[in-house]
Amino acid sequence: MIKLHDLYFKPFISSEQIDEAVQEMVDDISKDMGDVIPVFVGILNGSFMFASDFVKKYPKPCEVTFIKLASYEGVKSTEDIQRLIGLTQDLTGREVIILEDIIDSGKTLEEVHRIFTNENVKSLKIATLFYKPEAYNKDYKLHYIGIKIPNAFIVGYGLDYNGLGRDLPEVYQLKTEKPMTNLVLFGPPGAGKGTQADFLKAKYNLVHISTGDVFRYNIKNKTALGMLAKSFMDKGDLVPDKVTIDMLNAEVDKNSDANGFIFDGFPRTNAQADALDKLMESKDSQINAMVALEVDDEVLVKRLLKRGETSGRADDADESIIRNRIKEYYAKTAILKDYYSAQDKYFGVDGVGSIEDITVRLSSVIDKI
Ligand code: AMP
Repeated sequence: MIKLHDLYFKPFISSEQIDEAVQEMVDDISKDMGDVIPVFVGILNGSFMFASDFVKKYPKPCEVTFIKLASYEGVKSTEDIQRLIGLTQDLTGREVIILEDIIDSGKTLEEVHRIFTNENVKSLKIATLFYKPEAYNKDYKLHYIGIKIPNAFIVGYGLDYNGLGRDLPEVYQLKTEKPMTNLVLFGPPGAGKGTQADFLKAKYNLVHISTGDVFRYNIKNKTALGMLAKSFMDKGDLVPDKVTIDMLNAEVDKNSDANGFIFDGFPRTNAQADALDKLMESKDSQINAMVALEVDDEVLVKRLLKRGETSGRADDADESIIRNRIKEYYAKTAILKDYYSAQDKYFGVDGVGSIEDITVRLSSVIDKI
């Protein structure tokens, strides 16, 4: 995803796809032109990249010139087309092919036809790399079309948003969904993830999903999922990936209008981390950071035994189950530090101290993301 001015854009058409489309247009046009030397007229500014790539591929002699028109303001096609540079050479009797980057409403095309009304060219044909059939409301024939696209605002490969984006070699589409902030709150059992998540969700207006809490809710309500999870949780083992991933997906889907999520207790395995990346990708989003609370094992055991005095959690009451949960963490979960470090998304925070101090430490990391 990229940001231009105030808006976000997501990848839409790769440079390889553009290259193929340009080549096909070159093949069609050069075949139709035969031995005639055409005059290609690029419409500036947008078509500079297309015109350049097109004529480089064109296998026979040709002439190239430009006219400059302006039609866009922000992300809307305006009614007024300004002619900034008109034709500068006599094209009487010539076969002219307009090279347009995009045909949208057809307003620019109308102006192009007006420009050519009295030029006495032998033929005037239109070639456009991108075409929005849903937006086009004119009757002019489009002779060559590269790629048909839906009616969305695009940038890149010559096309801009208020001056930015023309230089990009591929095309991006305006992202209409608002960007989310998604955090993985990480650390061994007893590190204080739940306590901190309560503060962070309020501060950053995020939805907190604790897989442990969702399992406990299901156990309390004696659902099939709860009964299945209970057998693993009571021993301090992890619930199988498939069960946990399906449940997490459902929890995320329940909150489709969230500003973002704090994932607490998930992911706990590589398979879960992969599944989470895929889920975020399907929502045009991503995990922004894994923020990890780092706490010594012996401190964890003490904290959990203390919590067990009041939490009512069977897995907090017994030291050997607590130690098994910590062992599971090191055996299966701690490797996720590498997973997120490889993406430059891992941030370790000292998890020992007062609750307030730790919240401040976490916030200072999150504020920088
Ligand atoms: P927690 O409340 O995060 O300490 O989780 C309590 C227990 O729920 C764990 O010991 C596991 O048995 C189960 N659990 C919670 N989250 C997951 C997960 N992401 N993958 C597998 N099991 C989980």
